[in-house]
Amino acid sequence: MIPFIDLKAQYLSIKDEIDTAVIKVLESTQFILGSEVAALEEEFAEYCSAEHGIAVNTGTSALHLALVAAGIGPGDEVITVPFTFIATVAAIVYTGAKPVFVDIDPASYTIDVTQIEAAVTERTKAILPVHLYGQAADMDPILEIAQRHNLIVIEDAAQAHRAEYKGRRVGSIGDIGCFSFYPGKNLGAYGEGGMVTTNNAEFDSTIRMLRDWGQERRYNHVLKGYNYRMDGIQGAILRIKLRYLDQWTEARRAHATQYDQLLKDSTVKTPVVMPYSHHVYHIYAVRVGDRTALQQKLSEQGIQTGIHYPIPVHLQPAYSDLGYQPGAFPYSESTAREVLSLPMYPELTPEQVDAVAQSLHSLSQGAQVS
Ligand SMILES: *Cc1c(COP(=O)(O)O)cnc(C)c1O
Repeated sequence: MIPFIDLKAQYLSIKDEIDTAVIKVLESTQFILGSEVAALEEEFAEYCSAEHGIAVNTGTSALHLALVAAGIGPGDEVITVPFTFIATVAAIVYTGAKPVFVDIDPASYTIDVTQIEAAVTERTKAILPVHLYGQAADMDPILEIAQRHNLIVIEDAAQAHRAEYKGRRVGSIGDIGCFSFYPGKNLGAYGEGGMVTTNNAEFDSTIRMLRDWGQERRYNHVLKGYNYRMDGIQGAILRIKLRYLDQWTEARRAHATQYDQLLKDSTVKTPVVMPYSHHVYHIYAVRVGDRTALQQKLSEQGIQTGIHYPIPVHLQPAYSDLGYQPGAFPYSESTAREVLSLPMYPELTPEQVDAVAQSLHSLSQGAQVS
């Protein structure tokens, strides 16, 4: 069996270091925030070339606090994409603001920058590009539009730790960057976790207060805050795992290169890496015809795959009140119908990548993609 992801293999490869670090936190009783979390904030911010890092309990909280710190609330609009994980849109709705969608570019799967300007209104306050699958959105045109209309840029970098745009690390390109440490992410906690990054000292101090009940000092609540703090144990675990992230990212990229090679003469379409992008392959998604049958046949051969994501957010029942109809975002909809995520994690072996590609190659013959 070749699993879609194998968290156990990675844990076993660093077990001694992790176990020692966890016990140290237990003995210190710094269960919430504390010195390990503070050290992680510095190390992760530096890793992203950002001046400040604020650790939180989830990636969703990171997005929520970024939006709140940017002053976004009821009556405001935030431009983003419908082809993303639900959390991007949920965080906007938490603030009372309205998500306004722009379709994706069919090659990069990130926001189509040529359609952003038409979506800007007097109520627009921010643009929230998603670095989907580990590939950076086309940030220069986004920053240019934001500057022209006085908008904040918040990067959803939940899938893109260490990804680069024109040589710059994501999370430090827009005004605020948001990361998730959900276990399956490229840098994953052993529980929930997230981080906000920024070069803006004011956003840093606001977000730092907001995550801990809006306190300036203990029991002095200057902002209406939240309980969005990171656990000490997660901080200690993430500090250890961060030291391996370069090596793990290189392993993902090597697997992607191998998939690309083995699938280049097949009917499946492999990911397009944009010229400005250093892709970190959180997800390696191919486009296939007759996806349901193909996924079933792969599963019968012991190969687990995933779909990220089968229904774009504008067609989710929970967000029908936004008023979008089928056909509103053609590329998000066709991509959602055709993408198939192949097994991708650092500990995959070249033999496993080879086996997945060979199966896919032979099973997909004759099937056409759009
Ligand atoms: C995982 C993810 C999030 C949310 O992160 P959590 O830590 O699960 O709350 C937000 N946006 C995207 C694109 C994600 O993939």
